[in-house]
Amino acid sequence: MTGELRDCVVLAGPELEPWHCGRFAWRDGEVVAVERRAPARALGGSAAATAGGGAAAASGNGALVVVPGLYNSHTHMGDSCLPDGATGLTLEEGFFRPHGFKYRELAKLTREEHLPHVVNHLRYMARSGTVCHIDFREQGPAGAELLRAASAETGVESIILGQFNGVPFGAEALAANDSVLPAEARAELEAILDVADGFSESTMNDLTDAAWREVREVTGRRGKLRAIHCLENGAYRDVSVARTGVGDLARALELYDPHLIVHLTVANGAEIARMAAAGKTGVLNPRANANLGLPLPPVRALLDAGVNLLLGTDNGLLNSPNLLAELDFTYKLAKSQFGDAVTPDPLTILRMATANVAAVLGAEHPGYLEAGLPATFVVLDFHRPHLRATRHVAASVVTRVTPEDVLATYRRGRELYRREPYL
Ligand SMILES: [Zn+2]
Repeated sequence: MTGELRDCVVLAGPELEPWHCGRFAWRDGEVVAVERRAPARALGGSAAATAGGGAAAASGNGALVVVPGLYNSHTHMGDSCLPDGATGLTLEEGFFRPHGFKYRELAKLTREEHLPHVVNHLRYMARSGTVCHIDFREQGPAGAELLRAASAETGVESIILGQFNGVPFGAEALAANDSVLPAEARAELEAILDVADGFSESTMNDLTDAAWREVREVTGRRGKLRAIHCLENGAYRDVSVARTGVGDLARALELYDPHLIVHLTVANGAEIARMAAAGKTGVLNPRANANLGLPLPPVRALLDAGVNLLLGTDNGLLNSPNLLAELDFTYKLAKSQFGDAVTPDPLTILRMATANVAAVLGAEHPGYLEAGLPATFVVLDFHRPHLRATRHVAASVVTRVTPEDVLATYRRGRELYRREPYL
């Protein structure tokens, strides 16, 4: 598929700097031209505001803003069928196996009942600028397969990290911490990885040390991703210390070697230093943390330590999968933690949903726009009155753009969403 925009602003290159561009074009899934004219801190009065040519797909009059497609790096789209279902529930009541609300409700649904909810919410993600998500999918191999089907239907890429359908160990075995994975769990793990891109679990406290080593070995042999939730609240660390003498983050790094570590809400200075020394990527989802009444994640301390950070929205029953809202919240949270008016730059936060993904997902997912890279981008309508006079394009992208301002979302040149009329 071929297309081009004339006279637009593109957040270009790995730093996402806004540029007035005479032409932004794509062909066969790749960007083929980013014709920079001048930096575009603000809109309006630009010398670049020439009319688009007759062959252009659309003429922007300088007020179309193109940003890289957004990556939501922590979702549970399986429970998107239960919006706000966790309201009034604690983390344990809502989300922990075997009796948490999420697991009880999901078990009641047939595939035919469940699939349309997931499809609809993937479409909502595309409408709000998200092209790809990393999903921590419950319900074993069948859960992974259901999300794979929804992804194929919508074109939104699902990077699926499967989870055991049930915790393979009882309380006694977990307390003793000396069992290997039962044969059925080992078979389930292989079956999950036949469909999924990797493995995840709720907490390090759900498996024994020996089981974590086995999961690491199997996922490593099969070239799969590994992820885990750590330090969402103090109990994650406390249970791990009581059982093994070691906190959950330290155990994760030592036994499991995850590519992604989610939450870090209550990470202390030593734990943040450990993350940085290990070169690990953290995924933050401050809106979900706040909605559970948990502390807010230490964005400033993680940035100061140099930890690569991504953003997610967490459970559908807790939070909308709208990354634009997450960008706004995270930016303001970070500024409050830095305690000044200038740090961080809004593009530091936008990179958490774009260019920072390459460190985990590799060259297939650069997360930024340049000629020769995937045509994975979002067109934003800065003609609208609340955006047109912006004096800082990057800050407005991060704090003011809503799903209604998204004109179109493309992944590798494929149109996932397009608002009509386009202009
Ligand atoms: Zn999660």
